[in-house]
Amino acid sequence: MHHYPDAKAVVRDLSPDEPIILNRPHAAARAARFFVEKFPGKSLYAVKANPSPDLIRILWDNGVTHYDVASIAEVRLTRSVLPDATLCFMHPVKSRSAIREAYFEHGVRTFSLDSSEELAKIVEATRDGDGNDAPDLRLCVRLRVSSEHAALSLASKFGCDLIEAPALLQESRQFADWLGVCFHVGSQAMTPFAYVQALDRTRAAIAEASVVIDMIDVGGGFPSVYPGMEPPPLEDYFKLIHQHFYALPIAYNAELWCEPGRALCAEYSSLVVKVEKRRGDELYINDGAYGALFDAAHVDWKFPVRPLEDDLIKPEMDFAFYGPTCDDADYMPGPFALPEDIQAGDYIEIGMLGAYGAAMKTDFNGFGSAERFIVADEPMASLYDGSRMRPETDNVVSLR
Ligand SMILES: *Cc1c(COP(=O)(O)O)cnc(C)c1O
Repeated sequence: MHHYPDAKAVVRDLSPDEPIILNRPHAAARAARFFVEKFPGKSLYAVKANPSPDLIRILWDNGVTHYDVASIAEVRLTRSVLPDATLCFMHPVKSRSAIREAYFEHGVRTFSLDSSEELAKIVEATRDGDGNDAPDLRLCVRLRVSSEHAALSLASKFGCDLIEAPALLQESRQFADWLGVCFHVGSQAMTPFAYVQALDRTRAAIAEASVVIDMIDVGGGFPSVYPGMEPPPLEDYFKLIHQHFYALPIAYNAELWCEPGRALCAEYSSLVVKVEKRRGDELYINDGAYGALFDAAHVDWKFPVRPLEDDLIKPEMDFAFYGPTCDDADYMPGPFALPEDIQAGDYIEIGMLGAYGAAMKTDFNGFGSAERFIVADEPMASLYDGSRMRPETDNVVSLR
């Protein structure tokens, strides 16, 4: 794969007519090392955030040994890239055939669930030919917790509530060699107190169930940094999670896990797009809602932008973007601040698209292709380059 210093060099060399994804392996490696060294437990990479085999290998090379996979396709993909990784099937609703294949063909032992029906499915699908229950199941009961502190809710679809949890934990304990509790506070959780609240619920569920708990998995939700969304330092999240984990009534050797997706890969990729047309304060660009900019269109996410031409001299103004398909919904309100004199034919780099960006591209309307190159410059924002030195610690303390 061709390497370039930065996006400007790519545009100068290729004048590309198709959108281009730029990957920064050094940024993903740095994020992986940060979690491996600083999170007080085990960090699983949530593959759905970006299933690129290159990225998965970078994370592995930098110490990430466990992977949160949510479909049989993610199981197969991750296993084919990393024969020795530990895969954990953390989608609480799976098909029998997916469970069976994961267990018998790919060595998956850890499964999450949020209902008795799913427990029965897992137990049945992992029985051997003689009808014996699997002796080595590691089960993880998913608890429903609040998403109130997160930019994207994950509260309504999965998780059992506090009324159901004790009975489900007791029932699961009978089939589990190792039993955990997991939850997800929602993506881009803007304060560590999201995890404190969720761990309080976890405590209530465990106390009521009075079963031995071997593992607590605080899920994903760790933020990255975007325009208008500057989270407190991740160290503050780790510290509070650690404190509240220790106070739980669990086995003395219980493990602490987390499942970051976004925080491990947001900085990995950016996107170069071409302006095809300008209409007032609207720019028609060649990627959009059905491409890497799904979140910019559908959940109004703000991504950083910068122009790639050197001859733009006017001050910035706010623009909205249209994507390339013929669909009105292919619209990104932004606002995106770019020089007033930007015009058709110019190029723009859109940053922080490594998580839920590069992974979202579809072929709808014939606009799916994108070449990928490696660049060496810094991502447009970073939680890991030392530029954000605990600026909001006081703020966090005062919230307690
Ligand atoms: C999506 C998902 C994650 C990753 O979430 P982020 O907000 O990207 O960190 C982790 N665990 C589960 C079960 C998920 O569904």
